Amino acid sequence: MEKKEIKVMQKIISENDRLADELRKSMTDKGVFLINMMSSPGSGKTSLIESTVKYTDTKIGVIEGDIHTTLDAERVAAAGVKAYQINTGPFGGDCHLEAGWIAAAAKEMGVDDVELLFVENIGNLVCPAEFDVGSHKNMILLSVTEGEDKPLKYPLAFRESQLCIISKIDLLPYLDIDINKIRENLKKVNPAIEIIELSSKTGDGMEKWRDFLDMNLKK
Ligand code: MG
Ligand code: ZN
Repeated sequence: MEKKEIKVMQKIISENDRLADELRKSMTDKGVFLINMMSSPGSGKTSLIESTVKYTDTKIGVIEGDIHTTLDAERVAAAGVKAYQINTGPFGGDCHLEAGWIAAAAKEMGVDDVELLFVENIGNLVCPAEFDVGSHKNMILLSVTEGEDKPLKYPLAFRESQLCIISKIDLLPYLDIDINKIRENLKKVNPAIEIIELSSKTGDGMEKWRDFLDMNLKK
C-alpha cells in the first residue's frame, strides 16, 4: 500500500471512530444496548436472533447488514423482531458496516420501542473487526463446523470481541472437532473473552446467553 492510501484509510477510520462514539453515547442516553454481531457467513447469527425471542421479554431490534437481499430482515421480522435492512451492494459491495450507516439506520427505523439492538454485521472475519459501529459490546459467533483454527487465523475479530458464541453444538457428535481446542485457541488470542456454547436449534446453552443479555441490560 502506498503512503497516500494509508493516510486516506486513517482518515476514514478516525471519522468512523468519532461517529461510533457519538452513536454509542446517544444509544446509552436512549436506554438502548447495542451489540455488534460478527462471524463468517452461515455461522448462525440470524438463527440466534430468531430463537433469542423465545428466551427473553426484552424488546429487540435488529439492523441487518447484507451485500444483497432482505432475506435475514424478513426472517427476524417473522419472529417478531423489529428489523431494518442495510444493503451494502449498491455502495460498491462493501464487506463491513460503518458507524454512520448504523446511526442513519437506527434513526430511520426508530429505537424508542427497542431495549436491545443487534447489528448483524456482514458475514466475514476480516474487515468488520476494523470498524467500530458504535456498539456497547462486540460478539463473534464461531460454529463448530468452522474448525478449531479460526481464532488463530483471524485474531483481530476475536480480539475485538468481548463474547464468543460457539454455535451449532448439536452437530458435535457428527464432527471430528475438539471443542476444548476451540476454547484453547480463543483464549490464546484473547484471554479475557467470554465463551458461551449453544445451539439455537435444540436450545442447549440458551439460558447462558439469556443471562449474559440480562446482566448487560441491567447495567
Ligand atoms: Mg444472517
Ligand atoms: Zn470491508
